[in-house]
Amino acid sequence: MLSLENSDNRSVREKNRSQILQAIKMQEAISRIELSGQIDLNPSTISRAVNDLEEMNLIREREMGESSGGRRPVLLGINESAYHIIGVDIGATKIIAVITNIQGEILEKYYYRIDYSQGDVVDISPELVLECLERVLKQYQRNQSRTDRIIGIGVGAHGLVDKDRGKVIFAPNFGWRDIYLQRNIEEKFGYKTIIDNDVRVMALGEYWFGYGQNCDCLICVNAGYGIGSGIIFNGRVFRGHRSLAGEIGHTTVAEDGPRCNCGDYGCLETVASGPAIAKMVRTRIKRGRESIITEMVYDMSQITGKLVFQAAKEGDDLSRQVLEEAGNYLGIGIANLINIMDPELVLVGGGVSRAEDFVFASLRQAVTRKTMEKPPPISPVKQGEETGAIGSTVLVLEELFQAPESFLSEVRG
Ligand SMILES: [Zn+2]
Repeated sequence: MLSLENSDNRSVREKNRSQILQAIKMQEAISRIELSGQIDLNPSTISRAVNDLEEMNLIREREMGESSGGRRPVLLGINESAYHIIGVDIGATKIIAVITNIQGEILEKYYYRIDYSQGDVVDISPELVLECLERVLKQYQRNQSRTDRIIGIGVGAHGLVDKDRGKVIFAPNFGWRDIYLQRNIEEKFGYKTIIDNDVRVMALGEYWFGYGQNCDCLICVNAGYGIGSGIIFNGRVFRGHRSLAGEIGHTTVAEDGPRCNCGDYGCLETVASGPAIAKMVRTRIKRGRESIITEMVYDMSQITGKLVFQAAKEGDDLSRQVLEEAGNYLGIGIANLINIMDPELVLVGGGVSRAEDFVFASLRQAVTRKTMEKPPPISPVKQGEETGAIGSTVLVLEELFQAPESFLSEVRG
């Protein structure tokens, strides 16, 4: 009986700590008095949890606050540099590995870009991911005075990911099936590792550190080599029954559109992804449309979404028109999601979002046309290309914030 009671006590204390840690994260600095005003716990419980969190190095005293007469209160804030986390984003066209502090600030980063213009299946192996991790760790060891603060590795991987088993079930662009990536990484580096789908971690990154902070219902669309979305619902990633939720890229937006990799026709991915944009430009040039792109490449297979964006910036009519059309389709797809989920905010990341000036006007018009009420704000992600890698660190942070003491004793012994 006694041990049961003890473990109950422990879990209550962890819950209190978690609640207080979240509250402190939400504001940059907060006094103990303000904390008691926001949290429905008695002052001595709060005080005890605050002390525990200080002992764990997770929070620290900051500058003094404004006094309302009497002594100026001490403000508490997250102790951002006490622990470090590695985040890896394995996208379809690049691997980005970062090491951040617990406030999502990047200390080190390593990029590996993949040239996909030569064929559909990219030669990216799990070993390559391990190599990128090794590189970023070497940089870290070279540049940081202390290298014992890493508490885990988060990985966002393209494709279908089983988070609980730590494996990539299927990643079509890499030709991966049933890859136990989590185990591979843990065995090599010895850090606790958590993996999830790349678009979901992108949404997490914006929810924790980007524009989506404090949004209970947030949709984050990744439009790049492929198109997908991560949905945050009631503060958690919404996965659906089989963890397939958010596959906006395979919703139909053009019934008589081109054939998709999935076998169907007119999926959003076939009219608004980077490769789709390149293909539309290629087809129209072949049909006789003029474009400065013909002077930018040796042969038509070299046309990529990125190049279309460059040409648009240089005033190329065809490129501008195609990006605008892609924006319109993206808007239709996003409007469908808005009508179903009623989010507070929609964020768009990935290569297509970086062509903001040419894509967003038609995107917003389509959304306005297709939604019943005034649509929510739609903007590019805050953290640009690094959103996914930063979001991957959140996989680790979620567990740390959920149960600080047990997580730290698990990873630090
Ligand atoms: Zn499809």
